[in-house]
Amino acid sequence: MQYFSTRGAGPVTLDEALRLGIASDGGLFLPERLPRFEISDFDGADTIPAVAHVLLAPFFGGSALEDELDAILAETFGFPIPATPLPVEGRDVSLLELYHGPTVAFKDVGAGFLSACLSRLEGDVDDPLTILVATSGDTGAAVAAAFDQRPGMRVVVLFPAGRVSERQAHQLCCWSDNVVSLEVQGSFDDCQALVKGAMADSSLAAAHRFSSANSINIGRLLPQSTYYADASLRHFRRTGNRPGFIIPTGNLGNAFACIMAREAGLPIGPIILATNANRTIADYFETLEWLPRASLQTLASAMDVGDPSNMERLRHLVGEADVLRRQLGVQSVDDEQIRESIRRDFSEFGFATCPHTATATCVWRDLDDDMAGGHDWILVATAHPAKFETIVEPLTGEPVAVPPELATLLARPARAISIQPSLDALAKVLE
Ligand SMILES: *Cc1c(COP(=O)(O)O)cnc(C)c1O
Repeated sequence: MQYFSTRGAGPVTLDEALRLGIASDGGLFLPERLPRFEISDFDGADTIPAVAHVLLAPFFGGSALEDELDAILAETFGFPIPATPLPVEGRDVSLLELYHGPTVAFKDVGAGFLSACLSRLEGDVDDPLTILVATSGDTGAAVAAAFDQRPGMRVVVLFPAGRVSERQAHQLCCWSDNVVSLEVQGSFDDCQALVKGAMADSSLAAAHRFSSANSINIGRLLPQSTYYADASLRHFRRTGNRPGFIIPTGNLGNAFACIMAREAGLPIGPIILATNANRTIADYFETLEWLPRASLQTLASAMDVGDPSNMERLRHLVGEADVLRRQLGVQSVDDEQIRESIRRDFSEFGFATCPHTATATCVWRDLDDDMAGGHDWILVATAHPAKFETIVEPLTGEPVAVPPELATLLARPARAISIQPSLDALAKVLE
């Protein structure tokens, strides 16, 4: 399989696309074509790694990793991804729990897979690959966890001082010597500018082998499509129905993976994007005009994106808004609705949801009767509420139990190096 940029550059192999992250012309990599499957192609595949093997094998055609796919998948899926039925009378509704990985958010799946691939392709103990990652919270922790103790790989995480929650900060700073955590005295945008600046700086780039692990890497999308495949197949085998999915959405990476799985022939019904108050996608579907903008701060902070970069992939794969809106729903949920949704989830389901997941449960409650009754629904839970306890606990009035994965990390010592937002300061640390 060959890969092309959404802006035309290519072809490159999967291995190059994984290594580069972004194409030389600034576009995003997509496979030259999507494989098409029959549901029967998955007969006998009844674990996520088995489903993932069938789905991803064509994407690995011609890759140096082709024979390693099973080992890569075994490393990626070291935790379960169950769809738990919700107590809803007379309706088939479940919660897809993507939060059982090491940092209890769905980004563990993509980061784990990318790490398994890159360490095989690029790990070199004499000249380690340096992965730079700017983070506003969840991404950096997932990447750090995935590359922690990998020989020949080094991770440098940059996060904005004082702008991530206490538990998020701890998760960014509790790793081994090959993970360097930098508390940048600036904003998330400063962190991102430092990463871009370092990669573009010729003397730094000559001294270090750089790569990045941001959410536009094709290596994060491919594994995400597998849990949609697995969940939809399980549901279809059990009921004969194609379930709809409601997906908390920010940069559109998670939802894009679901759309890709449906395009590839998996039994997936309607797909609805749940966004926070950042309305860029909702407005695009309404007005047909793509107007990216600065992001607004919301309670669902990991979805605070005003210019979702994966839209470029979606327009390339499916089409413009007039086509897209016939195939996808989108609804924007404001902070007051998020609060109300967390309260209702707790009283109606008996457990707390995180602010991101609560956008999906809110959109589901708002469905009209035809949509609500006409399909079975799988609501996507993107993070564990214990990660956002300062928002959730005052609303439910109960402490959120800390899951064992998170408790393990919180018990470790944490350390960070504080730096000013300058390339000189970053260069010093990199030495
Ligand atoms: C990153 C993230 C999202 C948004 O996912 P995208 O792929 O950017 O759309 C939603 N919820 C949580 C908890 C996240 O960390």
